[in-house]
Amino acid sequence: MHYEGNVIRPPSEADSILLQATVGCTHNKCAFCGAYPDERFRIKDEAQVFEDIDFAARHMTRQRRLFLLSGDALTMPQARLERILERVRQRLPWVARVSSYANARGLKLKTPGDLERLRELGLAAVYMGLESGDDEVLARMNKKATLDEMLLQARKVREAGLKLCVTVLAGLGGVEGWRRHAQLTGRALTLMEPDQAASLSVIPVPGTPLWEDVRAGRFALPDGPGMVRELRELLAHTDMRRGLFLADHASNHVPLKLRMPRDRQHGLDLLDAALDGSLPLKPERARRL
Ligand code: SF4
Repeated sequence: MHYEGNVIRPPSEADSILLQATVGCTHNKCAFCGAYPDERFRIKDEAQVFEDIDFAARHMTRQRRLFLLSGDALTMPQARLERILERVRQRLPWVARVSSYANARGLKLKTPGDLERLRELGLAAVYMGLESGDDEVLARMNKKATLDEMLLQARKVREAGLKLCVTVLAGLGGVEGWRRHAQLTGRALTLMEPDQAASLSVIPVPGTPLWEDVRAGRFALPDGPGMVRELRELLAHTDMRRGLFLADHASNHVPLKLRMPRDRQHGLDLLDAALDGSLPLKPERARRL
């Protein structure tokens, strides 16, 4: 397989065939993100992508999922995306699910009909970084999308019959804005109705604007118990009627995997136990992105 730059996929795609159709991210300016440093977004040569599909056809016959790299592969022109999905279907008929990252700006380029066509061709799920339900936080983190824009695009994804997986980031409100960030993010998840919500905890990445702000004392991140308190507030304000709520990423202090709404109280109880000291927090040195 031909890979360029960082190969980043959601934790739940650990066993997927990783097919790189694009390099980098079209935005690449979120203040907390060190995913694709110095990489200019580009669409890879189609012949090389097809070669990789053929390689997977010979050597990856047991993997039933495929993840389309990189940061926002759905910004590819529709016709090219369709050709890639058609080729996957022809050459890898055992692949039952294709998924990809997507951001609001990329999704805005797709009509509802485009997304439905992609679903017909095998795209099954989209991972979207909401990060925060607080527009002030989104602006400070240079997300270049408002909550309303993300809600609109998320609805389009769901209405096209695609699964919606949403990621949020505890810590982005800082010490001063943690409560508002947590509450508004919980409400945003409630409105988005994702099939899966995943909460990660921020770890500043060297070289990013957030790292510089933390180092210079312009932004203070909550400590471990502060992150747990924030996650509890977020969960308490998340009223998902179905789907999974995950906080089992390596960056989190207390791992949670909750079927909503059934397990929500169990999750709150675990977080309370962590806050009163009866459940140990993951040590800082064991956290990673
Ligand atoms: S968080 Fe996502 S949209 Fe923002 S720069 Fe990183 S990859 Fe791009």
